Amino acid sequence: MVGVRVRDLARQRIELLMECALRWASKDLELAKRQAELARRLSMKYRVRMPFKYRMLFCKGCKTFIVPGINARVRISGSSYRALTITCLECGHIYRKLIKPRAGEGTSPSSRPKR
Ligand SMILES: [Zn+2]
Repeated sequence: MVGVRVRDLARQRIELLMECALRWASKDLELAKRQAELARRLSMKYRVRMPFKYRMLFCKGCKTFIVPGINARVRISGSSYRALTITCLECGHIYRKLIKPRAGEGTSPSSRPKR
């Protein structure tokens, strides 16, 4: 049984590791990947849920730490709906995330392409 305090510590370490990994990503991607991998293992070991902002930095295909602009490509796609397309440049896995349109934005049907 893992205590609450231990999990709290694990959560802090995950946050620290991920912040470190993000900072290192542009300078030393391999080091950043190792730090992120460590954070991912901690989250599994202590059953700590990775915050969403960090979870989306892992490829769903190869589980590698991916950083937009470095080893991942992020595009906004869709006309009537908005979606984020994240392409992992390590394995080519494409992951789509729908973005809910904000009120009074993106609701105009005229923006739809005509065929
Ligand atoms: Zn991948």
